[in-house]
Amino acid sequence: MEAFLNTLSDLKHTDFRLLATALNASSNGVVITDHSQPDHPIIYCNSAFEVLTGYSKKDIIGHNCRFLQGHDRSQDSLLQIKEAVRKGEHCQALIQNYKKNGRLFWNELMISPVKDSSGKVTHFIGIQNDVTKRVVAELKLEQQRDQLDEKVRERTNTLEESEAYLSAIVETIRESLLVLDSEFRILSANHNFCDFFNDPEETLVGQKLFEIGSGKWNIPELRDLLTKILPHNNPFEGFELTHDFPIIGRKTLMLNARQMTLKGKYQERILLAIEDITERKTMEYRKEDFINIASHEMRTPLTSIKGNLQLLNKVAQKKGDTDYARGFSAAGKSVARLERLIFELLDVSKMQSGKVDFNFEPVDMSTLIHESIEIIQQETPGIKIILSGVENQYVDGDYGRLEQVMINLFSNAVKYSRSSSEIKVHVSCMSGYCKVSVTDNGIGINMKDHKRIFERFYRAEDISEKFPGVGVGLYVCNEIIKEHNGTLWVDSEAGKGSTFSFTIPIAKTI
Ligand code: ADP
Repeated sequence: MEAFLNTLSDLKHTDFRLLATALNASSNGVVITDHSQPDHPIIYCNSAFEVLTGYSKKDIIGHNCRFLQGHDRSQDSLLQIKEAVRKGEHCQALIQNYKKNGRLFWNELMISPVKDSSGKVTHFIGIQNDVTKRVVAELKLEQQRDQLDEKVRERTNTLEESEAYLSAIVETIRESLLVLDSEFRILSANHNFCDFFNDPEETLVGQKLFEIGSGKWNIPELRDLLTKILPHNNPFEGFELTHDFPIIGRKTLMLNARQMTLKGKYQERILLAIEDITERKTMEYRKEDFINIASHEMRTPLTSIKGNLQLLNKVAQKKGDTDYARGFSAAGKSVARLERLIFELLDVSKMQSGKVDFNFEPVDMSTLIHESIEIIQQETPGIKIILSGVENQYVDGDYGRLEQVMINLFSNAVKYSRSSSEIKVHVSCMSGYCKVSVTDNGIGINMKDHKRIFERFYRAEDISEKFPGVGVGLYVCNEIIKEHNGTLWVDSEAGKGSTFSFTIPIAKTI
């Protein structure tokens, strides 16, 4: 710039045309204002300035540069320029200007004073550059940054709210909750845990679970759950544990554990939910004890009733008293059903304690199924059972127990079929297994109950009041089939009938 100014002061010695051509060839807009005249008019502008502003020379020469500012007079950078002009100094500023067509453009302006020999400013040279594209891009970037900041702020707020929400839930739920790190150090414990196990939170946080309270949590089963089972079975639910705790005594707990494998802050955390099921377990044991005792007590009188009914039936038949004979026979069937129920109830407790003996022998499934059909048809006359599939297939089994399974499946099919009484039995063999399926057209079973119906005393909610039963039959059947190294399952949909199937290994020798 300095060199350029020197060149200007020496104009009389240089080739004017050459300089004018050089200025016109420049892509920057150049103007010269005269400061010796009022309102500092523009006395020169090059072609680039015309292109830049859209004005032509005749609109420019003689005007003060402020015509480029339109009505926009409040920019900070204008003050900076005014100050530089007042002091006769060099200045660089970015200002918003307007083209002739009214369109805004960003002008990167550089002004430099030209002084005479006494140091008085005679002219100003202004060099302009349209940097609209760059500024707009920068503004856009800034706007995006602001939007991003806003999003981050919103996210942080949401996260903080979620954290507060989660901790409110954690503190409200009835279960005790612990968060552990990968070395089983306690990171947090909810109120319930602290209250139930009598441990203030400040004595827990930072301590290793197995070391707190003189090792009261140093329970081998719990160690196994956290160190051996959980890493391979994550999450682990329904782990039952009974332990003698100091002060609160013997407790049965249900543990659910989850290893969190999230990235970032919550990496490698273990969430341990502990539910006290001591009371529920005690009630269950009492219920089972009661059923056990009651069934035992009923068995003897029932055997005597059964014997006497058979005797009375024979006497009535001998005397030709058909009404009595029919009555005694009907009573006998009811007693048989009652006897089976009692037998099942006793079975439940025997199976739980593993006291059931199985007598395995080669069993012909056809004979077994035919006999079972006969028994169920005597009990429920009019019922139609259609048998299909392979005949004379031998399995390794306990005849009595397998017959118990068949009769159970048949009586359920009858019971849960209401008016429709056609039952299909299909026998097939595959890969060393014999498969038996019992299909009915009855009320069917909801998907959510498919697994649970094999639990002890479980009955589908919607049927409990409409159909008699105690919910042990399928549990017993399942235990029997498991003992035969087979599986029992159901395929069903509510309202569309059910098919109960089981598989058992085919006999190796007969
Ligand atoms: P119970 O019949 O005495 O309730 P079970 O153990 O035999 O006991 O059956 C458990 C539950 O399974 C029943 O309560 C019923 O909800 C369902 N269930 C069993 N068999 C059938 C079937 N054939 N059709 C529909 N539901 C069935």
